[in-house]
Amino acid sequence: MFIDGRTIAGQTVIETDIAIIGAGAAGITLARELAGTPWRVALIESGSFDLDDDTQALYDGESGAVDYPLAASRLRYFGGTTNHWGGWCRPLRPVDFEGRPGIGIPAWPIGPADLAPYYRRAADACQLNSADFDDIAVWQQRTGKPALDLPGDDIDTRFFLYSPPTRFGETYRGEVDRAANITTYLNSNVLEVVPDAAATRVERVTIATFAGNRFEIRPRICILATGGIENARLLLTSDSVQSAGLANGNGLVGRYFMEHVTVPGQVAAIATTDETLIPFYYTHTPTIRGVTMRAVFMPADDYLRRENRFSASLSIYEAHAPGDKSKDGDPKLEPGILEMLRSMGAANGPAGGMIYGVACATEPQPSAGNRVTLTTARDALGMRKARLTWRPTPAERDSLYQNLMALARSFGVWKGAVKLAIPNQSDWQDVEIGWGNHHMGTTRMSADPAQGVVDADCKAHGIANLYVAGSSVFPSCGPVNPTLTIVALAMRLADHLKAKGVEG
Ligand SMILES: Cc1cc2nc3c(=O)[nH]c(=O)nc-3n(C[C@H](O)[C@H](O)[C@H](O)COP(=O)(O)OP(=O)(O)OC[C@H]3O[C@@H](n4cnc5c(N)ncnc54)[C@H](O)[C@@H]3O)c2cc1C
Repeated sequence: MFIDGRTIAGQTVIETDIAIIGAGAAGITLARELAGTPWRVALIESGSFDLDDDTQALYDGESGAVDYPLAASRLRYFGGTTNHWGGWCRPLRPVDFEGRPGIGIPAWPIGPADLAPYYRRAADACQLNSADFDDIAVWQQRTGKPALDLPGDDIDTRFFLYSPPTRFGETYRGEVDRAANITTYLNSNVLEVVPDAAATRVERVTIATFAGNRFEIRPRICILATGGIENARLLLTSDSVQSAGLANGNGLVGRYFMEHVTVPGQVAAIATTDETLIPFYYTHTPTIRGVTMRAVFMPADDYLRRENRFSASLSIYEAHAPGDKSKDGDPKLEPGILEMLRSMGAANGPAGGMIYGVACATEPQPSAGNRVTLTTARDALGMRKARLTWRPTPAERDSLYQNLMALARSFGVWKGAVKLAIPNQSDWQDVEIGWGNHHMGTTRMSADPAQGVVDADCKAHGIANLYVAGSSVFPSCGPVNPTLTIVALAMRLADHLKAKGVEG
């Protein structure tokens, strides 16, 4: 059932078993998983079924260091940011869970085996029609083309699978509506999660609407699922009992914000004299037996452990034929690529061969100074706005460069007909970067309350009935898009609640 929060009489108090705040990928997954349980579930969503400017403006904030689009990188209505996500999906690798303390990457308190069954189910929820992310044999057989057999053990072929992309709001609206134990409150903005006087239990959630009415929901279990920036904002603004905010006894809420730094495809290039050498599924995203997929290059797990390096995802795109000036390319790199092709025995001059761009994304370095805090300015409903301070670290750029060099070395000794051209290391520091719109790390998971905001079950340390869902719990995130892992973790959290009950 859907209820418009604007129609609820002011000061109404609603009792429920489980309150889920936010109906994006995480919140809708939780609701679907909890459908049919004996518990009353309140799914509380700021927006309605379409974008509304006033509601979306509640996401406005400030950014420091990098001018980051706080509002444009999220969507605030039923379905959340999946209303415009790209659908790239991949699970984390075993090495991502282990941590690499030498470069500041903490271990997860859970391992790949804890998430493996949920990744398979998350692949279904994201409508991937497959969960064969790392099985080269499957894709060789289905495409009829062998994967690139690069020499050495430093670089692996991995696969992204693509969601249609699933709009969680549209796709699962009917299912959530039909679940007899779920009530979704739309146009309902949570302003504060209020604990008891000792701040050991959540007592109530206060809600405001643009119609002016305010009401509250009193849950036995409260789950934050408002996204990687807003989860931190909501904890920090929940300060009526503890001035530093909720679950923030160690000052960690909002810290360790992570984003994937990306470098667009024109910056590094692959040149080949023989365009048939690279199978089509490295350069395009074909749909094969209902599964849309793409092969990418990633540094191998053992290489990352040995070199103490951040991971990366390197994907290649057909750019242009050599010498075709009508297409994008890095002007600094272009003469070198043509020269390289000549030295590789390409036709006299630029005829023949193909140039591909290499799009890169790096694993971020968690840094306490990259963080979400509050400004003194308030939004239209009186809630303090978020400020994001994010400065990618030089080590991230450097690591990406080293990973590209590893790929170049592999190509360099392979067949002699494919080579990678990369800017000089000094130019690399000036390359313009982008990012993935992935907001992670601000309520990170650790078994140790001094190191993280939530424990291995996504429960806030020190608060009996408060849980967090979404990429804010990631202590590290590899180089891959977060949503598949968000959905898998939400499914695991629902199973945890089913096993534990809602007594809190
Ligand atoms: C352009 C773009 C492309 C992307 N492409 C990819 C991709 O290819 N692959 C990938 O894995 N990820 C991608 N992402 C990221 C992906 O969209 C997010 O990881 C995912 O949506 C996060 O899910 P979530 O449920 O944590 O948050 P959201 O989906 O953002 O949902 C949060 C929900 O909480 C609600 N809410 C917020 N505050 C309140 C409040 N105070 N009270 C009540 N409700 C509230 C919001 O309205 C929203 O519905 C992309 C993002 C963008 C912007």
